[in-house]
Amino acid sequence: MTAASSPFGDTAHPRINGDNPAHDNGAGQENAPWDVAPWDVDGDKLKEECGIFGIIGAKEASGIVALGLHALQHRGQEAVGITSFDGIDGDGEFYTHRGVGHVAQVFNSAESFAALPGAMASGHVRYSTTGGSGLRNVQPLFADLASGGFSIAHNGNISNAMTLKRDLVQKGSIFQSTSDTEVIIHLVATSRYPTVLDRFVDALRMVEGAYSLICMTPEGKIACRDPLGIRPLVMGRLGTATVFASETVGLDVVGADFVRQIEPGELVQVDHQGVISSHRPFGNHPARPCIFEHVYFSRPDSVLDGQSVYSVRKAIGVELAKEAPANADIVVPVPDSGVPAAIGYAQQSGIPFELGIIRSHYVGRTFIQPSDGARNADVKRKHNANRALVEGKRIVLIDDSIVRGTTSLKIVQMMRDAGAAEVHMRIASPPTDHSCFYGVDTPERNKLLAARMDLQAMADYIHADSLAFVSIDGLYRAVGEKSRNATCPQYCDACFTGEYPTRLTDLAERNEPAQLTLAVDKAPADAPAKQTPKSNSPKNNPGADKQSTETAPSE
Ligand code: SF4
Repeated sequence: MTAASSPFGDTAHPRINGDNPAHDNGAGQENAPWDVAPWDVDGDKLKEECGIFGIIGAKEASGIVALGLHALQHRGQEAVGITSFDGIDGDGEFYTHRGVGHVAQVFNSAESFAALPGAMASGHVRYSTTGGSGLRNVQPLFADLASGGFSIAHNGNISNAMTLKRDLVQKGSIFQSTSDTEVIIHLVATSRYPTVLDRFVDALRMVEGAYSLICMTPEGKIACRDPLGIRPLVMGRLGTATVFASETVGLDVVGADFVRQIEPGELVQVDHQGVISSHRPFGNHPARPCIFEHVYFSRPDSVLDGQSVYSVRKAIGVELAKEAPANADIVVPVPDSGVPAAIGYAQQSGIPFELGIIRSHYVGRTFIQPSDGARNADVKRKHNANRALVEGKRIVLIDDSIVRGTTSLKIVQMMRDAGAAEVHMRIASPPTDHSCFYGVDTPERNKLLAARMDLQAMADYIHADSLAFVSIDGLYRAVGEKSRNATCPQYCDACFTGEYPTRLTDLAERNEPAQLTLAVDKAPADAPAKQTPKSNSPKNNPGADKQSTETAPSE
């Protein structure tokens, strides 16, 4: 690679094309292979992998980040980390604390935040996919580069990470984690462009897949979305501070005003004086944001692509009622994610909405740790049929999606055990028959019910009297489109259509997601561990002597 004046000049993005090496091929899925307990409604879902939040220009920034991450907890419950910076232009240090568990578990005292000083901070909640669940992979990741400290928090998945990693390792890079995100750090480190921003753009030109990123350097923050905007990222304002978050609910909870979304392919740079600059190094491409954010991932009180997530989910229920009516006495949601669509279905059909399944809110999340034993102990206490309501009734049961089908099978049976006369299952998304490679935990394709069976076979499998999914055009109508544009779809909908909007190089080249450089990551069982990363250039590196603390999972 040779030095150049700027990587911004070439606006062609080499990774966007119509190639679809993974079409009709779900093999090679990289996600953690743990199975799902049969009664775990949350477990038999596609899971958003990460939420990111960052702020610059606020006192006690790390505390605000923790609050923002609380609001994004639904995007990842397995691990959390916050990195702060206490300097302004050229001085200061980076501080990191990461741990396994919920935000409230890992950041549970005033001392947690006293150890993360400064007016700039970023955080990350995670549900592991690529790279596994070890502490080494908990973000934000940090590195000392020749230009100074560099912190990165990533929502998404780099679909050519293994290909790039092999090349980097052959050239001498030594990886500290098994996360695909670390590839970006090494690409920035080895770029020959003069400024951090140029190096960053140079690095992003080499990666494909989905990424929303919040990075920190001694000079300030850089937030960006991939050229197709697959994963969400919004910007807000809290007094004079600038805030970035995966969803608007993160802004709401910290009291920040929504400013705008980060546009697909946009890099927003904010310095310590609050000066904001926007860059579009990849040119303009039709956006392909993830449509499943509307179906399930985002919180219903968020606003996504200018639309209320709650309203869209209700509109999906309306479409579903038009497309798949049922003769029934009551409409029952599978809580909580089926509720808005069930309200829409009930309003459109005129069939009363009733809470025929009651969810206990005192059980706690049961998939913090990917161990079947822990989940099995709790899941049966989580949902219960409202027998007095259900008995003798014809039920329209509404859920947001069917993944493996194990949950649907049990929920339908639960309705029958409670005396339901008929159970008609209606699903507020099209059949999920392809895996996601953009930062969402999906089973291998051959475990997806819709990839294995036709509609009638699925209905038989879950023992429903009838089964219907909203159509892909119905889903597009619910998000405000007339229909799906078949030649240039307005969203990424690959898990429903198999039409992946980027190349999937690792999948196509059968690159295994196994790490190259580390033994399996073993977290210490009890006490917090401390590490002080070695600085490579203290004089030029304000990140030198930073502290990084890590909290192991509590048993
Ligand atoms: S494949 Fe599905 S879940 Fe993944 S980004 Fe596309 S729409 Fe979202």
